[in-house]
Amino acid sequence: MTTKIKFAVLPGDGIGPEVMKVAIDVLGVAAKKFDFAMEYAWADVGGAGIDNHGKALPDSTVELCKQSDAILFGSVGGPKWEKLPPNEQPERGALLPLRKKFSLFANVRPGLLYAEIADASPLRRERIPNGIDIVCIRELTGGIYFGEKATRILDDGQTESHDTMVYKTSEIERIAQVAIDTARARSKKVTSVDKANVLETSVLWRKTVTAYFAKHAPDIALNHLYVDNAAMQLVRDPNQFDVLFTENMFGDILSDEMSVVCGSLGMMASASLGLGINSHGKRFGLYEPAGGSAPDIAGKGIANPCAQILSSALMLRHSFGLTGAAAAIEKAVKDAVASGTRTGDIAFGGKSVGTAEMAAAIAERL
Ligand code: NAD
Repeated sequence: MTTKIKFAVLPGDGIGPEVMKVAIDVLGVAAKKFDFAMEYAWADVGGAGIDNHGKALPDSTVELCKQSDAILFGSVGGPKWEKLPPNEQPERGALLPLRKKFSLFANVRPGLLYAEIADASPLRRERIPNGIDIVCIRELTGGIYFGEKATRILDDGQTESHDTMVYKTSEIERIAQVAIDTARARSKKVTSVDKANVLETSVLWRKTVTAYFAKHAPDIALNHLYVDNAAMQLVRDPNQFDVLFTENMFGDILSDEMSVVCGSLGMMASASLGLGINSHGKRFGLYEPAGGSAPDIAGKGIANPCAQILSSALMLRHSFGLTGAAAAIEKAVKDAVASGTRTGDIAFGGKSVGTAEMAAAIAERL
């Protein structure tokens, strides 16, 4: 029987709608080849939500997401909305509430750089002769970004602020399971990153991760690294890692460092997995490029659509269990780029193609 997949399409702002349109085209080709049917609807989010509905995350958009099994997200923001109060701006007004509403606790970000475009990395080619292929798993709904915070005026007139980093065992265990699942589909190696020599939450993190892996994943090789060392190792030799696994703030910083090491933002996909299980028995998730709305190139038809297309492959894999179709899309992207079809961000001054042509080359290989 043909599998039917239902997802919400939230293109957002800037290059979001441009890359989303062609990503849906590529998904359509995959649907024909792998015999699945797609049901999806588009909705405004971010600046488009503010302009058309008065807020970054319109109620109608939330409703559509609730009725879907996954969200394919573009990117939000741009200069037009930067003067709004911070909580009403596209990113804070849309992405953070979406993460909260759908309990998106696990961020999975592949750090992938094909050998053929290794020059996109700031690292010297001899350090990464075969490119880079790692994954960063970041806890997304706990830690210092969500703990109690306050600012007060002291008796001596100074201002004092604090943020609190809080984790409990169950939060650590559920993200540990995502790291285990990811590692089992790769080379069964996880590096857990913390600051257990200084932070109490990191002591709990290390203790909980060690016990959880011993009980549930004796087949996975686990090692631990302090975050300052991990940041250094990531630029020294990124491929020493396979699955890099850490808490919210460390993951925020390390996953961005990883994206830079891997070259263009136009190639970086990500998945944010929720606690909820969808009608396919898989995790509800939000899938989006790691980059932003790229206002500097928006409307020119030159944005790299690969990150959006690779995000849709992650959606097929994680929320719909369509692993064959996901792998085929990923291979088509790699083949197209390797054959020399490249947008400006990965062309290094050579011949470049536009968004539509890049996507067409991927669809053709698929
Ligand atoms: P950005 O990621 O949008 O752009 C940084 C640089 O990378 C730019 O030079 C851009 O042209 C390039 N780039 C990004 N994606 C590309 C692609 N697909 N193809 C080719 N080049 C690409 O970051 P920024 O300029 O700091 O932010 C722009 C806006 O995006 C801001 O409003 C910011 O708040 C927002 N933003 C949104 C998200 C999100 O929606 N998740 C993430 C980051 C930034």
